Amino acid sequence: MENCPQGHPLKKIPAGVSKKTGKPYEAFVVCSQCDWKPARVYSPSNKVAQVTQMQENKARLINQAMDRKEESISKFNALNSAISLVTRHPNYGYIKSEDELLQKIFALQLRFFTHNSRSLEYDVDVPTEPLPESEY
Ligand SMILES: [Zn+2]
Repeated sequence: MENCPQGHPLKKIPAGVSKKTGKPYEAFVVCSQCDWKPARVYSPSNKVAQVTQMQENKARLINQAMDRKEESISKFNALNSAISLVTRHPNYGYIKSEDELLQKIFALQLRFFTHNSRSLEYDVDVPTEPLPESEY
């Protein structure tokens, strides 16, 4: 199409950078006299860029969700380990009150959890004071 619906000649604006927004824009066609523009057609390269961006966003969101899930699984596992240790190991037989029991469990949970996540993060063993030896 060489003219707008009113018969004015069209002109092609080369790609450039918007003075208003500072953002780059692609070449486009506009009427030289009125403000008419042809309906915008996404070029394949635009579409590919859009799809790629969407896939990257999706992958990032999935990774974030998985990190959170792994963290909560890791916390849950740490809690189970702590409960196992405190309820089964004779070293903790001295604990009589429930408050003390829970305090001990949560302290151990935190220790298991931070130990595990640090080991994963840096791929090294984090030195901690030795836990009571398990008989299992
Ligand atoms: Zn026109």
